[in-house]
Amino acid sequence: MSHSPLDVRLRQVSHTFNGRDRGVPALANISLTIDSGEFVALVGPSGCGKSTLLRLVAGLLTPSRGYITLGGQPPAQARRHKAIGWMAQQAALLPWRTVLENVRLPLQVNRQVNRPPASPEQLLALVDLADFADAYPHTLSGGMQQRVALARLLATGASLWLMDEPFAALDELTRGNLADELLVIWQKFRPTVLWVTHHLQEAVYLADRLVILSARPGQVAGELTIDLPRPRDDTSADFQALVRRARQILGRGQNG
Ligand code: ADP
Ligand code: MG
Repeated sequence: MSHSPLDVRLRQVSHTFNGRDRGVPALANISLTIDSGEFVALVGPSGCGKSTLLRLVAGLLTPSRGYITLGGQPPAQARRHKAIGWMAQQAALLPWRTVLENVRLPLQVNRQVNRPPASPEQLLALVDLADFADAYPHTLSGGMQQRVALARLLATGASLWLMDEPFAALDELTRGNLADELLVIWQKFRPTVLWVTHHLQEAVYLADRLVILSARPGQVAGELTIDLPRPRDDTSADFQALVRRARQILGRGQNG
Protein backbone atom coordinates (compact mmCIF):
# COMPACT_ATOMS: atom_id res chain seq x y z
CA MET A 1 0.00 0.00 0.00
CA SER A 2 1.58 3.25 -1.02
CA HIS A 3 -0.43 5.30 1.49
CA SER A 4 -0.78 4.57 5.16
CA PRO A 5 -4.42 3.69 5.76
CA LEU A 6 -6.75 6.60 6.41
CA ASP A 7 -9.19 7.04 9.24
CA VAL A 8 -12.60 8.43 8.30
CA ARG A 9 -14.52 10.94 10.41
CA LEU A 10 -18.02 12.22 9.78
CA ARG A 11 -19.32 14.90 12.12
CA GLN A 12 -23.05 15.68 12.11
CA VAL A 13 -23.27 15.16 8.39
CA SER A 14 -26.59 15.79 6.68
CA HIS A 15 -27.32 15.76 2.99
CA THR A 16 -30.37 16.99 1.10
CA PHE A 17 -30.75 16.74 -2.65
CA ASN A 18 -32.48 19.53 -4.52
CA GLY A 19 -35.83 18.17 -5.71
CA ARG A 20 -38.32 19.76 -8.13
CA ASP A 21 -40.40 21.58 -5.49
CA ARG A 22 -38.57 20.78 -2.28
CA GLY A 23 -35.40 19.14 -1.05
CA VAL A 24 -35.03 15.37 -0.71
CA PRO A 25 -33.35 14.69 2.66
CA ALA A 26 -31.12 11.64 2.16
CA LEU A 27 -28.97 11.62 5.31
CA ALA A 28 -29.53 13.30 8.68
CA ASN A 29 -26.97 14.03 11.34
CA ILE A 30 -24.52 11.18 10.79
CA SER A 31 -21.53 11.08 13.13
CA LEU A 32 -19.16 8.21 12.56
CA THR A 33 -15.50 7.35 13.07
CA ILE A 34 -13.75 4.55 11.20
CA ASP A 35 -10.25 3.72 12.38
CA SER A 36 -7.48 3.28 9.85
CA GLY A 37 -7.31 -0.34 8.76
CA GLU A 38 -10.81 -1.06 10.09
CA PHE A 39 -13.42 -2.93 8.04
CA VAL A 40 -16.84 -1.34 8.56
CA ALA A 41 -20.05 -2.53 6.95
CA LEU A 42 -22.69 0.10 6.34
CA VAL A 43 -26.07 -1.60 6.39
CA GLY A 44 -29.53 -0.21 5.78
CA PRO A 45 -32.69 -0.52 3.71
CA SER A 46 -32.75 0.42 0.05
CA GLY A 47 -32.91 4.20 -0.44
CA CYS A 48 -31.65 5.08 3.05
CA GLY A 49 -28.64 6.97 1.71
CA LYS A 50 -25.81 4.39 1.73
CA SER A 51 -24.50 5.25 -1.73
CA THR A 52 -24.91 8.95 -0.95
CA LEU A 53 -22.75 8.48 2.15
CA LEU A 54 -20.04 6.79 0.07
CA ARG A 55 -20.13 9.61 -2.47
CA LEU A 56 -19.78 12.15 0.34
CA VAL A 57 -16.79 10.28 1.78
CA ALA A 58 -15.27 10.07 -1.71
CA GLY A 59 -15.63 13.84 -2.11
CA LEU A 60 -17.94 13.42 -5.12
CA LEU A 61 -20.64 15.31 -3.17
CA THR A 62 -20.29 18.01 -0.52
CA PRO A 63 -22.48 17.56 2.58
CA SER A 64 -25.26 20.11 3.08
CA ARG A 65 -24.24 20.27 6.74
CA GLY A 66 -21.42 18.91 8.87
CA TYR A 67 -17.97 17.85 7.77
CA ILE A 68 -15.90 14.85 6.77
CA THR A 69 -12.17 14.23 7.11
CA LEU A 70 -9.98 11.41 5.80
CA GLY A 71 -6.70 11.16 7.68
CA GLY A 72 -7.44 14.67 8.95
CA GLN A 73 -7.81 16.11 5.43
CA PRO A 74 -10.90 17.01 3.41
CA PRO A 75 -11.94 14.25 0.97
CA ALA A 76 -10.96 16.35 -2.05
CA GLN A 77 -7.36 16.28 -0.86
CA ALA A 78 -7.38 12.48 -0.50
CA ARG A 79 -8.85 12.26 -4.01
CA ARG A 80 -6.03 14.34 -5.42
CA HIS A 81 -3.55 11.95 -3.87
CA LYS A 82 -5.48 8.99 -5.30
CA ALA A 83 -5.86 7.53 -1.82
CA ILE A 84 -9.47 6.47 -2.45
CA GLY A 85 -10.48 3.37 -4.39
CA TRP A 86 -14.01 2.46 -5.42
CA MET A 87 -15.76 -0.77 -6.30
CA ALA A 88 -19.42 -1.19 -7.20
CA GLN A 89 -21.95 -3.83 -8.18
CA GLN A 90 -20.80 -3.69 -11.81
CA ALA A 91 -17.10 -4.22 -12.52
CA ALA A 92 -17.10 -1.48 -15.22
CA LEU A 93 -14.17 -3.00 -17.11
CA LEU A 94 -13.10 -1.58 -20.46
CA PRO A 95 -14.39 -4.16 -22.98
CA TRP A 96 -11.69 -3.47 -25.56
CA ARG A 97 -8.87 -4.15 -23.10
CA THR A 98 -7.75 -7.56 -21.91
CA VAL A 99 -7.93 -8.50 -18.24
CA LEU A 100 -4.27 -7.60 -17.70
CA GLU A 101 -4.64 -4.31 -19.57
CA ASN A 102 -7.63 -3.43 -17.35
CA VAL A 103 -5.54 -4.05 -14.23
CA ARG A 104 -2.72 -1.94 -15.69
CA LEU A 105 -5.05 0.98 -16.34
CA PRO A 106 -4.67 2.79 -12.97
CA LEU A 107 -0.88 2.72 -13.37
CA GLN A 108 -1.15 4.31 -16.79
CA VAL A 109 -3.64 6.95 -15.65
CA ASN A 110 -2.00 7.81 -12.30
CA ARG A 111 1.61 7.58 -13.38
CA GLN A 112 3.99 8.52 -10.58
CA VAL A 113 1.18 9.14 -8.10
CA ASN A 114 0.96 5.77 -6.37
CA ARG A 115 3.12 2.74 -6.17
CA PRO A 116 0.90 -0.36 -6.25
CA PRO A 117 1.68 -3.14 -3.77
CA ALA A 118 2.66 -5.57 -6.54
CA SER A 119 2.90 -5.83 -10.33
CA PRO A 120 -0.34 -6.21 -12.36
CA GLU A 121 0.67 -9.81 -13.11
CA GLN A 122 1.13 -10.53 -9.40
CA LEU A 123 -2.18 -8.87 -8.57
CA LEU A 124 -3.95 -11.07 -11.13
CA ALA A 125 -2.38 -14.13 -9.51
CA LEU A 126 -3.57 -12.88 -6.13
CA VAL A 127 -7.19 -12.90 -7.34
CA ASP A 128 -6.71 -16.31 -9.00
CA LEU A 129 -6.84 -15.04 -12.57
CA ALA A 130 -3.26 -15.58 -13.72
CA ASP A 131 -4.51 -17.82 -16.55
CA PHE A 132 -6.93 -15.18 -17.81
CA ALA A 133 -4.52 -12.27 -18.34
CA ASP A 134 -5.18 -12.19 -22.10
CA ALA A 135 -8.92 -12.84 -21.95
CA TYR A 136 -11.47 -10.11 -22.69
CA PRO A 137 -13.97 -9.12 -19.98
CA HIS A 138 -17.09 -10.36 -21.83
CA THR A 139 -15.74 -13.92 -21.76
CA LEU A 140 -15.62 -13.91 -17.94
CA SER A 141 -18.33 -14.74 -15.39
CA GLY A 142 -19.66 -12.02 -13.09
CA GLY A 143 -17.56 -13.30 -10.20
CA MET A 144 -14.39 -13.28 -12.34
CA GLN A 145 -15.15 -9.75 -13.51
CA GLN A 146 -15.40 -8.63 -9.89
CA ARG A 147 -12.04 -10.28 -9.23
CA VAL A 148 -10.55 -8.21 -12.03
CA ALA A 149 -12.13 -5.11 -10.47
CA LEU A 150 -10.51 -6.05 -7.15
CA ALA A 151 -7.08 -6.45 -8.79
CA ARG A 152 -7.60 -3.07 -10.48
CA LEU A 153 -8.51 -1.55 -7.10
CA LEU A 154 -5.28 -2.96 -5.64
CA ALA A 155 -3.35 -1.51 -8.59
CA THR A 156 -4.51 1.99 -7.64
CA GLY A 157 -2.54 1.68 -4.37
CA ALA A 158 -5.53 3.28 -2.61
CA SER A 159 -5.64 2.93 1.17
CA LEU A 160 -9.35 3.65 1.61
CA TRP A 161 -11.69 1.29 -0.19
CA LEU A 162 -15.28 2.40 -0.75
CA MET A 163 -17.28 -0.65 -1.74
CA ASP A 164 -20.88 -0.15 -2.92
CA GLU A 165 -22.55 -3.58 -2.81
CA PRO A 166 -19.80 -5.21 -4.88
CA PHE A 167 -21.23 -8.73 -4.39
CA ALA A 168 -24.91 -7.85 -4.87
CA ALA A 169 -25.16 -9.24 -8.42
CA LEU A 170 -23.39 -12.53 -7.61
CA ASP A 171 -24.91 -15.90 -6.75
CA GLU A 172 -24.59 -17.18 -3.18
CA LEU A 173 -21.69 -19.59 -3.84
CA THR A 174 -19.59 -17.08 -5.79
CA ARG A 175 -20.32 -14.47 -3.14
CA GLY A 176 -19.01 -16.79 -0.41
CA ASN A 177 -15.81 -17.68 -2.28
CA LEU A 178 -15.09 -14.07 -3.12
CA ALA A 179 -15.73 -13.01 0.47
CA ASP A 180 -12.99 -15.38 1.66
CA GLU A 181 -10.54 -14.16 -0.99
CA LEU A 182 -11.33 -10.57 -0.20
CA LEU A 183 -10.61 -11.11 3.51
CA VAL A 184 -7.23 -12.69 2.73
CA ILE A 185 -6.36 -9.67 0.57
CA TRP A 186 -7.65 -7.19 3.15
CA GLN A 187 -5.57 -8.83 5.90
CA LYS A 188 -2.50 -8.71 3.65
CA PHE A 189 -2.77 -4.99 2.77
CA ARG A 190 -4.99 -3.66 5.57
CA PRO A 191 -6.75 -0.78 3.81
CA THR A 192 -9.58 0.99 5.61
CA VAL A 193 -12.80 -0.44 4.16
CA LEU A 194 -16.28 1.02 4.08
CA TRP A 195 -18.48 -1.75 2.71
CA VAL A 196 -22.10 -1.08 1.78
CA THR A 197 -24.53 -3.96 1.78
CA HIS A 198 -28.11 -4.78 2.71
CA HIS A 199 -27.11 -8.42 3.21
CA LEU A 200 -26.79 -8.92 6.99
CA GLN A 201 -25.00 -12.30 6.84
CA GLU A 202 -22.43 -10.83 4.47
CA ALA A 203 -21.87 -7.86 6.79
CA VAL A 204 -21.43 -10.07 9.88
CA TYR A 205 -19.13 -12.41 7.94
CA LEU A 206 -16.82 -9.67 6.71
CA ALA A 207 -16.75 -6.68 9.00
CA ASP A 208 -15.16 -5.64 12.28
CA ARG A 209 -18.20 -3.49 12.94
CA LEU A 210 -21.65 -2.86 11.48
CA VAL A 211 -23.08 0.64 11.26
CA ILE A 212 -26.81 0.28 10.75
CA LEU A 213 -28.80 3.09 9.14
CA SER A 214 -32.50 3.76 9.53
CA ALA A 215 -34.86 4.30 6.58
CA ARG A 216 -34.55 7.60 4.67
CA PRO A 217 -33.36 10.08 5.73
CA GLY A 218 -30.63 7.76 6.93
CA GLN A 219 -29.57 8.13 10.54
CA VAL A 220 -27.37 5.83 12.59
CA ALA A 221 -29.86 3.40 14.17
CA GLY A 222 -27.12 1.47 15.97
CA GLU A 223 -23.71 -0.13 15.77
CA LEU A 224 -22.63 -3.70 16.34
CA THR A 225 -19.05 -4.86 16.93
CA ILE A 226 -18.29 -8.31 15.51
CA ASP A 227 -15.51 -9.78 17.60
CA LEU A 228 -15.65 -13.31 16.19
CA PRO A 229 -12.29 -14.64 14.94
CA ARG A 230 -11.86 -15.07 11.17
CA PRO A 231 -12.55 -17.13 9.17
CA ARG A 232 -16.03 -17.04 10.69
CA ASP A 233 -18.45 -19.93 10.86
CA ASP A 234 -21.75 -18.58 9.59
CA THR A 235 -23.59 -21.62 10.98
CA SER A 236 -22.41 -21.07 14.58
CA ALA A 237 -24.82 -19.93 17.27
CA ASP A 238 -22.69 -16.84 18.01
CA PHE A 239 -22.78 -15.80 14.35
CA GLN A 240 -26.54 -16.30 14.10
CA ALA A 241 -27.08 -14.33 17.30
CA LEU A 242 -25.20 -11.35 15.84
CA VAL A 243 -27.25 -11.52 12.62
CA ARG A 244 -30.44 -11.52 14.74
CA ARG A 245 -29.16 -8.58 16.76
CA ALA A 246 -28.41 -6.64 13.55
CA ARG A 247 -31.90 -7.43 12.26
CA GLN A 248 -33.44 -6.10 15.48
CA ILE A 249 -31.56 -2.82 15.19
CA LEU A 250 -32.53 -2.58 11.52
CA GLY A 251 -36.19 -3.23 12.38
CA ARG A 252 -36.16 -0.56 15.05
CA GLY A 253 -34.78 1.89 12.44
CA GLN A 254 -37.62 1.06 9.99
CA ASN A 255 -40.26 1.89 12.55
CA GLY A 256 -38.78 5.30 13.15
P1 ADP B 1 -29.13 3.63 -1.05
O1 ADP B 1 -27.78 3.54 -1.67
O2 ADP B 1 -29.14 3.41 0.43
O3 ADP B 1 -30.12 2.73 -1.72
P2 ADP B 1 -29.09 6.35 -2.13
O4 ADP B 1 -27.97 6.97 -1.40
O5 ADP B 1 -28.85 5.91 -3.52
O6 ADP B 1 -29.68 5.13 -1.25
O7 ADP B 1 -30.32 7.36 -2.14
C1 ADP B 1 -30.85 7.95 -0.96
C2 ADP B 1 -32.02 8.85 -1.32
O8 ADP B 1 -31.55 9.99 -2.03
C3 ADP B 1 -33.05 8.17 -2.22
O9 ADP B 1 -34.33 8.61 -1.83
C4 ADP B 1 -32.70 8.67 -3.58
O10 ADP B 1 -33.83 8.70 -4.41
C5 ADP B 1 -32.18 10.07 -3.30
N1 ADP B 1 -31.17 10.48 -4.28
C6 ADP B 1 -30.00 9.85 -4.54
N2 ADP B 1 -29.29 10.52 -5.48
C7 ADP B 1 -30.04 11.60 -5.82
C8 ADP B 1 -29.86 12.70 -6.73
N3 ADP B 1 -28.75 12.81 -7.47
N4 ADP B 1 -30.86 13.62 -6.81
C9 ADP B 1 -31.97 13.52 -6.04
N5 ADP B 1 -32.20 12.52 -5.17
C10 ADP B 1 -31.25 11.58 -5.05
MG1 MG C 1 -27.03 2.32 -3.21
